Amino acid sequence: MKKVFISIGHGGKDTGAVGYVVEKNANLCVGLSCNSYLSKRGVKTQLSREKDENDPVQEEIRECNNFDPDLAVSVHSNAGGGIGFEAYYHYRGGTSKKLAENIEDEVIKIGQKSRGVKIRRNSQGSDYYAFIRETKCPAVICEGFFVDNKEDSENYNESHEYKKLGESYAKGILKTLGIKDEDDTEEIKVGDKVKVLKNVQYNSDKTFKLWFKEYDVISVNGDRVVIGIKDSVTAAVNICNIEKIKD
Ligand SMILES: [Zn+2]
Repeated sequence: MKKVFISIGHGGKDTGAVGYVVEKNANLCVGLSCNSYLSKRGVKTQLSREKDENDPVQEEIRECNNFDPDLAVSVHSNAGGGIGFEAYYHYRGGTSKKLAENIEDEVIKIGQKSRGVKIRRNSQGSDYYAFIRETKCPAVICEGFFVDNKEDSENYNESHEYKKLGESYAKGILKTLGIKDEDDTEEIKVGDKVKVLKNVQYNSDKTFKLWFKEYDVISVNGDRVVIGIKDSVTAAVNICNIEKIKD
């Protein structure tokens, strides 16, 4: 079984970059989506954090090296002027570079711009970023978008958008590991059978009467999905709160 460590950048008191969105929150959504996509395809994963909590990079590195994965990805978001995705890989290239390139290919497929995959070295000539320098497995750092760029952060400020980004990372990871991506279309469409993961209505905290284990998708409009039984509506829910039932 292949193993992947997912570092979710910042957390707790360390917000990361703050612009139109707060980096630590975006990173968590993207990282959790990446994790669930990989887990569903038989990859053993470990996350540096699963909620908003302090998580210094040295702790992430320790956890990663103890887990001893095949690959590691650190999920970050960018700031400081620019637009689009970029990734950093180990200056010696190898699998780390391949991983960055495979992820970039998938990120471009979902329509995100890319600034390219890069290396960054410190004054000793080694890798600038500790997560790449001190982890023992091939590792990359992904910067999905710029939190301080209006256009970029408008494209990435909702849960279904973070989900897409996280899944594109997962697809790049699967390709690097040589694992066939069995189900390329996670997309939910009219007529699908779904189960409710989180029982709250779209854009509210209100729950609805959950009578059934599975529902039919009646309509899809962005991240708003109307579910029910045949044509009779039960509720409108966020696309992130339901999951397709595979037959
Ligand atoms: Zn960061």
